[in-house]
Amino acid sequence: MVIILKPQYEERQLNHLLKWLEGYKLKTALVKGEQSTILGLIGDTSKVDIETVKAIDIVESVKRIQEPFKAANRKFHPDDTVIDVSGQKIGGKNFTMMAGPCSVESREQICEIAASVKSAGAGVLRGGAFKPRTSPYAFQGLRAEGIELMLEAKKATGLPIVSEIMNINDLKLFDDVDIIQVGARNMQNFEMLKELGCTNKPILLKRGLASTMEELLMSAEYILSGGNKNVMLCERGIRTFETYTRNTLDLSAIPLLKEHSHLPVLVDPSHATGISRLVKPMSMAAAAAGADGLIIEVHNDPAAALCDGAQSLTPEAFSDLARSVNALLPGLGKKTII
Ligand code: PEP
Ligand code: MN
Repeated sequence: MVIILKPQYEERQLNHLLKWLEGYKLKTALVKGEQSTILGLIGDTSKVDIETVKAIDIVESVKRIQEPFKAANRKFHPDDTVIDVSGQKIGGKNFTMMAGPCSVESREQICEIAASVKSAGAGVLRGGAFKPRTSPYAFQGLRAEGIELMLEAKKATGLPIVSEIMNINDLKLFDDVDIIQVGARNMQNFEMLKELGCTNKPILLKRGLASTMEELLMSAEYILSGGNKNVMLCERGIRTFETYTRNTLDLSAIPLLKEHSHLPVLVDPSHATGISRLVKPMSMAAAAAGADGLIIEVHNDPAAALCDGAQSLTPEAFSDLARSVNALLPGLGKKTII
């Protein structure tokens, strides 16, 4: 349920309303937007009589939210959420390029790629340290050492970093990681989502391989309801019957997620297609569809990459992509990145 407050109200009146709502054992969230102030109620609101709420002096109107996701709902928070990642803004009028290798392989590799993606316009460095691989015989990532090397690249370039967590027991290792990625395979690891909800780390939540948009939003709800408001959604392709691409990029998810939710929506055209030459056209399509940013795999030697070389761009190809996407941004109401 959301309660829209009248433009002018006194603190005393609001406290009175909050005290009354306490009796229903509901969580409340006050959202001061550009147009209105909203009091969102989370929990079992079935016993709250709408007519009684409407009659309260400072209440303008009351709406029940039918969808199961509440804190992630745009009705709850009409303005776009803008997340501050170490001084960089993600969401709203901002467009964010995250780029870097699938996996951190060595100090030279990550530092070289970090410098090149930064000069091409990337605002965040990606790099996997803990890798979710289908085969136990495949490269599993450098793990804790990979995080250390990401931190070195962060120090050298000043770029904030994003890396995937696979086990909540590793959380401490992510203290200086700016954005924690929850990968597609862990989108419904609810115990992990609950723990991440107790932190205030920005979270990049990727859509599960066979998850609906509603399931993605419900996973975001797990994090938000724990108190962590810094959640970004990521469309990374879903499994369909198509085999020519690794996954099928669900472009329609971008405007729909943004319609249903205030959270920033990023797109990963690398994992969505699995084919490097498709990454640029799909990046442009994602930007045109309203994405708030992209996360792209870049490798200095894709043919020798330990993971996902076929979908990785060279630094030059990434730079070309960034310029093409950048040219679209003013027409889309977004600030340019280069
Ligand atoms: C990744 O970004 O490296 C990754 C494994 O992505 P996803 O979880 O989308 O497969
Ligand atoms: Mn990858």
